[in-house]
Amino acid sequence: MPDAAPEGKVLAVIKETDQTNSLVVDLPNRSFLERKPGQYATIRIKRADGWSEPHPFTISCPPAEGSLLRFTIKKAGGFTSAVPDFPPGAPVRCAGPFGAFCKDIETHNEIVMIAGGVGITPFLSVLRHFRDIKAQNRIQLFWCNKTLGDAFSLNELAGMTRELSLRVVHVLSREKNAANRHDPSLPAVTYESGRLARNTLLKYGVTPGAAYYLCGPGAMQDTVLAELAGCGVDPGKVEREKFGR
Ligand SMILES: Cc1cc2nc3c(=O)[nH]c(=O)nc-3n(C[C@H](O)[C@H](O)[C@H](O)COP(=O)(O)OP(=O)(O)OC[C@H]3O[C@@H](n4cnc5c(N)ncnc54)[C@H](O)[C@@H]3O)c2cc1C
Repeated sequence: MPDAAPEGKVLAVIKETDQTNSLVVDLPNRSFLERKPGQYATIRIKRADGWSEPHPFTISCPPAEGSLLRFTIKKAGGFTSAVPDFPPGAPVRCAGPFGAFCKDIETHNEIVMIAGGVGITPFLSVLRHFRDIKAQNRIQLFWCNKTLGDAFSLNELAGMTRELSLRVVHVLSREKNAANRHDPSLPAVTYESGRLARNTLLKYGVTPGAAYYLCGPGAMQDTVLAELAGCGVDPGKVEREKFGR
């Protein structure tokens, strides 16, 4: 059966870190104009031997970008490792937008976002949208990585702490003295060593009444849910998106 997914083309591939690249696609098709921040698309690329299999990726740019779709992609296997070699102009098919993660997020006054690694992408999309609409919501973002070198969009996130009611907490499992990274000119960007645990969550004053969103690998989600439960948060009320196993 022919694939009816709208076709666009690769505009650029932007290196974020050694492991992560952003793929920018121009998709002049109306179906993506009504997308919500946090939704995803499945993408296929045309290569010499035909169309690739579809792979799901969150659209990391805000809906206001219109026909430009940005996907921020970490190397995992064959498809994702080939992204840096996608040539500008290559035909791409995008099906979607799909998913309901973060669907009603703007209706909550107090929001806690917890991301593991590239699980930041839906939150980048939401925060970029919040910046566009000058949202007033109070937001805490806990972003868990091994080291700060695994993170990206750091200047942009820091800038957002000035534009939004946002605190960003970098939780770095392999950095012993993460707190030394603190920059007094950016009081709402802080650094914690180790894994995200109950004491860190309580230190930042998370309360059971906030709306919780979690995106990261399965094992990380299980441990974070247990820590949240220890803070009185009902794990069943935490909205979750899992990218794979
Ligand atoms: C809704 C959704 C949104 C997503 N959004 C993003 C995003 O924004 N950014 C992003 O980077 N990723 C995202 N992902 C994940 C992304 O889709 C996958 O990483 C990608 O499709 C993997 O394709 P691949 O061919 O590169 O890797 P694959 O070849 O599929 O392998 C992926 C990993 O799994 C391992 N693996 C494969 N098969 C097995 C097996 N049988 N047993 C054990 N391990 C195995 C591989 O070694 C590799 O580490 C999302 C996934 C979903 C479901």
